[in-house]
Amino acid sequence: MTTPRTVTIFGATGSVGQSTLDLIARSPDQFAVQAVTAQSDVAGLAKIAIAHHARLAVIGDGSRLADLKAALAGTGVEAAAGPQALIDAAALGADWTMAAIVGIAGLAPTLAAIRQGRTVALANKESLVSAGALMMDAVAASGATLLPVDSEHNAIFQCLAGGRVEDVARIILTASGGPFRTATLDRMRAVTPAQAVKHPNWSMGAKISVDSATMMNKGLELIEAHHLFPVGLDRLEIIVHPQSVIHSMVEYRDRSTLAQLGSPDMRVPIAHALAWPARMASPCQPLDLATIGRLDFEAPDPVRFPALALARAAIEAGGARPAILNAANEVAVAAFLKGRIGFLDIAAIVEETLRRYSPAAPTSIEEIGAIDREARGHAISRAESVRID
Ligand code: NDP
Ligand code: MG
Repeated sequence: MTTPRTVTIFGATGSVGQSTLDLIARSPDQFAVQAVTAQSDVAGLAKIAIAHHARLAVIGDGSRLADLKAALAGTGVEAAAGPQALIDAAALGADWTMAAIVGIAGLAPTLAAIRQGRTVALANKESLVSAGALMMDAVAASGATLLPVDSEHNAIFQCLAGGRVEDVARIILTASGGPFRTATLDRMRAVTPAQAVKHPNWSMGAKISVDSATMMNKGLELIEAHHLFPVGLDRLEIIVHPQSVIHSMVEYRDRSTLAQLGSPDMRVPIAHALAWPARMASPCQPLDLATIGRLDFEAPDPVRFPALALARAAIEAGGARPAILNAANEVAVAAFLKGRIGFLDIAAIVEETLRRYSPAAPTSIEEIGAIDREARGHAISRAESVRID
């Protein structure tokens, strides 16, 4: 029997974290859980840590340490809390780390995991959007293996296996189009948070579900792809494919196009990253193409989904622009989920923050942090000026 691989799950209580733990629990001989983390869900984290025999459980909210200790008393699981404890958990150096914290809050722990030089499965796209160049430099310096978990990027990674980046003519990211793919602007103006988080194909956390509804998710993924697969921005395209069966495609210069297909279940790309370079069995539904019957495609609508152009312009301009885009979007999505702004205000706030704030290009993680905070300040004051009647 081979020694189990040690694994750490950042964002263990979330949608991607739970899917990862579901797969790990099905192969108990192959994986040993080192650390699991959450932000405020003490009960959920303690339950996970006990069920998976983790060595360490870390709660990001420093004020919850006593609660976590109480929940883990007598179990043998060590408890820690606060942002530095998240970084320390990464420094334990698991063989395989899942980076599934939502938002820029995932940047420091993800970077700490990359610096260990082992394997990092990346779901936390916001960190790559805001600090892409710095993160890819850290990957090169540490020799870490970065495996994309976002379904589109995982699909591209699989389609590139055995191919050469210089032979790529186009990378085509597919987008479901979200719950408002066919909605009029008038209807979009009035949608509620409950309607926006109800994705037609995928079950995901609230923030990424809203991003899918505005299509900012696809904008963030364009930036993510730019860093992961350096073929040049002019070779990255987006096509709407409502069934979410083809997860993305790579066209080579001989005009041969490779696609990766699968059920819309995040356990498919997560299983790929867990077993890579081998394969493991997953409990996911096999594709039943006869029942699906047809695959449709359409061009994205830039008028109803302005987030797409904002993201492309931000990565074209480079420097601090993607970090500002991400920070303003995080603020706007949170305000929308709390019912403080309307759905169409999200992209408007991102656009205005980008217009009002134009700092120099960041050269360190500390500078990214400062830009993120400043951009949030601009976005918050803009969000506060929005009145919902
Ligand atoms: P969820 O909201 O379901 O889970 C987020 C996780 O991060 C939870 O464990 C949460 O803890 C933790 N967390 C939240 N805020 C902080 C913080 N400030 N510091 C530390 N931990 C924090 O998100 P998802 O699982 O949907 O998404 C996770 C990431 O993966 C996102 O970047 C998303 O874009 C990406 N992704 C997700 C996909 C999906 O299908 N869900 C698909 C592709 C990418 P707590 O429970 O205590 O709040
Ligand atoms: Mg995706």
